Amino acid sequence: MKTKLTKLAVALLAALVVSACGGSDNVSPVASAGPALVVDASGYSSFDSTALGLSLAALPLEALSVAEKDSLAFMREEEKLAHDVYALLDVRWSTSVRAFGSIANSEATHAEAVRQLLLRYSLIDPAATLAAGLFQNTILQGLYTQLAAAGAISLIDALKVGAAIEEIDMIDINKALLGIDNQDIVLVYQNLLKGSRNHLRSFVSNLALQGVTYVPQYMSVADYQLIITTPMERG
Ligand code: ZN
Ligand code: ZN
Repeated sequence: MKTKLTKLAVALLAALVVSACGGSDNVSPVASAGPALVVDASGYSSFDSTALGLSLAALPLEALSVAEKDSLAFMREEEKLAHDVYALLDVRWSTSVRAFGSIANSEATHAEAVRQLLLRYSLIDPAATLAAGLFQNTILQGLYTQLAAAGAISLIDALKVGAAIEEIDMIDINKALLGIDNQDIVLVYQNLLKGSRNHLRSFVSNLALQGVTYVPQYMSVADYQLIITTPMERG
């Protein structure tokens, strides 16, 4: 319910700002911009940079707490980690599944959305000059090394790495959201969560095609079941 209200508020604010700045064009900018997160038929969930920019521009630039600042730096690198691992696994497994390449593309837009928040607050981008597979955060660096190795073993291990990344991502975002009240960060994080739920569903169904019933490695079974027993979230 909270999510829906937030989204509605964002849409209304975007509409207000656009109509205030603007012209009497007969095309509705809000309708043409669409939702910030675009979900394709396979559930791959990417930010639309134009729609995201419009939504962010409609929100106030609020004071940033230390928790919010720290979280933005961390999430920028965590979304980069998802991208870098999937891009690596795509090289290894693209002849068997297309999920890694497609989801890597989505994750690039997730990392970019967090970068947009860093820019908005004039914060340093920790990943600005980092090559693929490199991270400033030592925990994420260790996680990358571990997941990259695990995903090289077999296709099933690789798909389990994918599901694990989405689980970890959601746990970290949900934890961070407890200390975040700035509407622009909440908007991006809620969409990152939606993307992760869809990506988790995708990895789990790919595992099912391989004859494997995935068991959550980090989330509670109850939280996992809630996601996996509900359909892909569109739009
Ligand atoms: Zn992501
Ligand atoms: Zn994801």
